[in-house]
Amino acid sequence: MGEHVMEKWQFGHRARLAISRVESERIDGQAHAARAMWNQLHDLWMMTPRCQRSLVRMDQTLRQARKEIDWYAVLPAQAAQAVLKTYIQAWRNCWEGRADEPNFKARHRSVMSVDIPQGRDLNIKRVHRRWGMVTIPKVGRVRFRWTRDLPVGKRADADNRISGARLVKDALGWHIAFRVQTLEPASAPHTGPEVGIDVGVNVALALSDGNHQTHDDWLTDTEKAKLLRLEQRAARRKAHRQPGERTSRRLHHTYDRIHGLRARAKRRHQDWQHQTTTAIADTYGTVVVEHLQITNMVKSAKGTIDQPGKNVAQKAGLNRSISGEAWGRTVVLLAYKTARRGGTLARVPAPGTSRRCSMCGLTTPGSRESQALFVCKNPGCGWSGNADLNAARNILHLYRMGHALVPAAGRAVVRRAKRVKPAAAR
Ligand SMILES: [Zn+2]
Repeated sequence: MGEHVMEKWQFGHRARLAISRVESERIDGQAHAARAMWNQLHDLWMMTPRCQRSLVRMDQTLRQARKEIDWYAVLPAQAAQAVLKTYIQAWRNCWEGRADEPNFKARHRSVMSVDIPQGRDLNIKRVHRRWGMVTIPKVGRVRFRWTRDLPVGKRADADNRISGARLVKDALGWHIAFRVQTLEPASAPHTGPEVGIDVGVNVALALSDGNHQTHDDWLTDTEKAKLLRLEQRAARRKAHRQPGERTSRRLHHTYDRIHGLRARAKRRHQDWQHQTTTAIADTYGTVVVEHLQITNMVKSAKGTIDQPGKNVAQKAGLNRSISGEAWGRTVVLLAYKTARRGGTLARVPAPGTSRRCSMCGLTTPGSRESQALFVCKNPGCGWSGNADLNAARNILHLYRMGHALVPAAGRAVVRRAKRVKPAAAR
């Protein structure tokens, strides 16, 4: 009898809410209160002398504020606690080098969201093949699209359950993201081939075996033209506004349409990322990627006031195309999906992978001919080929030579699976 090893998983499942306008506005109100609370906490934190800052003190202030300020009361107590926790966590992330300092949240630039940290408050039920019902605090019972089996009702237990949720708004309206925990039999090791992957300059994802993954533009030409027109219109209206004048309804409407188009592009991008990473995780047993520190790249380009960075504009372009969180998200998805299929995601150090020749292994000055084509200037080699393919092959080679980085402790890239012994060993 083989040993049944079980793995714990935690993942998010997002579903669209079917709610009335009134319900939607009520959640809007909660999200605005949550954002205002964040800003007030930040204000308080910055004004408090360093030695007096503490979680307890912030909590007391929060409770007091809820009593005194009417509109804070629209926010359920649990959601308010979650704001505080997230705020403190944001400082921890900063102190431990994972993120920038927390900042104020601007009305139009931050994602609207409300936490429902306790799973038992949700009372989820399936009412139809395609619909589920969930309780949203201070809003009531609402329907959501049922697109995958969730561990609720009789299927729920200590190991398989929904431990909480978060409401998130995008251009399509309010969604609910469930935090799902499951305990499943561990998958057998994936025996598929190894592959190196590079973020391409010419192709979206370059694979070391030449199986490159590309995509079309996220918006059609018509949609792009429309977006440009709307952006120009918004700029014109903004320019004609008097100082201190409020944003007009027409300008708000134009902004909404711009957000709608950008959200459409983002959805298409994310669909593509999901499909592509699933296909890669299905096919390959070991996936090797470059270890890029994206926040550092973005930061270093700007430099400081005394020492401004070089080629800021060019780097800003690169940064915009890399962040957009695209690559980071691709890696997160790959890590999660390979692990789920018994595969491995490995990271190798980045420097030099695009300048070294993947045939002879030498970095000869002047080797890279252009963005698209790599030509090796080593007289004994002379290999030439797609520049992205060359980098992807180098990445795989680094892994095979034992250069994979060990993930830093406490910095879980994926909530990878803790291996646990079954409760009763048979
Ligand atoms: Zn060469």
